[in-house]
Amino acid sequence: MDISVTDSKQTPLEYVVMGGTFDPVHNGHIQSAKQLVSTLGYDHIYLMPCGDAYHKQGVTQLDHRVAMLQLAIKDSVSLKLDLRETLREGATYTVDTLTQLRQELGKEAHISWVVGTDAAKGLVNWHQWQQVFEQANVIVIHRAGVPLDHSVTNAWPAKPCSDGQAFKQIPNGAFMQVALEPFDISSTEIREAINQKQSVDDHVPQAVLNYIEQHGLYRGNH
Ligand code: ATP
Repeated sequence: MDISVTDSKQTPLEYVVMGGTFDPVHNGHIQSAKQLVSTLGYDHIYLMPCGDAYHKQGVTQLDHRVAMLQLAIKDSVSLKLDLRETLREGATYTVDTLTQLRQELGKEAHISWVVGTDAAKGLVNWHQWQQVFEQANVIVIHRAGVPLDHSVTNAWPAKPCSDGQAFKQIPNGAFMQVALEPFDISSTEIREAINQKQSVDDHVPQAVLNYIEQHGLYRGNH
């Protein structure tokens, strides 16, 4: 399968990214991203697997994570892959990715980084986290069981925005919380369930399940 750094040859005016480890990708990622596309009226969301997940131990090798993502989005017109982080050496820092995107897309482009509420809580620990808002906006989606206190977003050097149309006009420096149908599932729970030979059929796309089975992933190593 052809793997390009971005799937689009045109320079988009909107670039929305859900970054993650995707170990493995699950329906929480896929359905949340699809809902976000329809709720805010974006054309696409780019799923962006990190290369070196410096903050996580024992992450599954990259080619498996990318292959599963490709299978998960193969029938979707709104979800695309951006593999730029997998091509960089060393720890994957979001700020580097966003700086690169800003250089590519220009200062007017609306760039947004999507995080679940769990990731939002840890954002202040990211490398050069304040600069994230100099390059992009942040979209927070609710993660089941992980409420977000105002004190988290109050600490961000970013303007709150609750109007989707207005938000899409803002290049950077804003954040928006979007209420989506919650999907109470994590990759950690899926790895553990597979390891214990429990069914994850309801939480992972069938093609990804087949891949996991075929390659014997998540058995005895997590
Ligand atoms: P792990 O359990 O291995 O930490 P994860 O399920 O949190 O993995 P990641 O790939 O780390 O998945 O997540 C990528 C992004 O997707 C993060 O911003 C995370 O908050 C968000 N996300 C993951 N699962 C969900 C979900 N069920 N609902 C909403 N957002 C989610």
